Amino acid sequence: MRISYLALSDTRCTVQVSGCNFKCLGCFSNERHQGGVEISAARITEHIPKGREVMLAGGEPTIDGEGLLSLMHELEGHKVILSTNGHCLDKALLENLTGITVHIDLKALDQQLHRWYTGKDNSRVLEAIRLLYDRGFDFEVSTVYVPHVVDIDEIGHIAAFLSTIGNIRYKIIRYMPVRGFSRRPVPQEIYAAVKAAGKYLGNVSSSMENRSHPTHRRIVLPDP
Ligand code: SF4
Repeated sequence: MRISYLALSDTRCTVQVSGCNFKCLGCFSNERHQGGVEISAARITEHIPKGREVMLAGGEPTIDGEGLLSLMHELEGHKVILSTNGHCLDKALLENLTGITVHIDLKALDQQLHRWYTGKDNSRVLEAIRLLYDRGFDFEVSTVYVPHVVDIDEIGHIAAFLSTIGNIRYKIIRYMPVRGFSRRPVPQEIYAAVKAAGKYLGNVSSSMENRSHPTHRRIVLPDP
């Protein structure tokens, strides 16, 4: 598997996979571009303490399906959270991922907007959300609030769509501007988006009150 790094904190290990199949205009991830180093699943897990929660993020951790499955095999017994854009999360892959928690991004519901922003159609992502729900996965959907691109109306539409599937956990992420694309949403915009989504769904949160990234961590792979 090609990774940018493996980081350890007291509570969690993060495997940051390199490369991504989307080309989001506002991408804030350094891992999007292919690069990193090829490291076997066995070598990655050697550095992960027994029982520690593992977050698989990127870039996009599902673009190398085989590598992902070997890593999952090595991680048996760990709580695993897969953070994904959902495009490769089809039936075949999901059959081999039972027992994990999934954080799936839905960048936009509007097809034209999604294509423009990511370079890809969103139909596979929408299907992945249905599959996760139908198969009883522990999962949440998230959307990055990007002012004047993906804002309150679009977030309302996404929440309305999700509610047609079920009472899905939904999280709104506050955009961090890169290369002058858009701007950082003000807190009031995020609160308003949470409120708009809350008209349709019973469990809506945001990255403002619910931060998921550990603050103190050290990189253990590639060898520092
Ligand atoms: S899916 Fe994530 S990593 Fe990939 S281009 Fe979009 S924001 Fe960047």
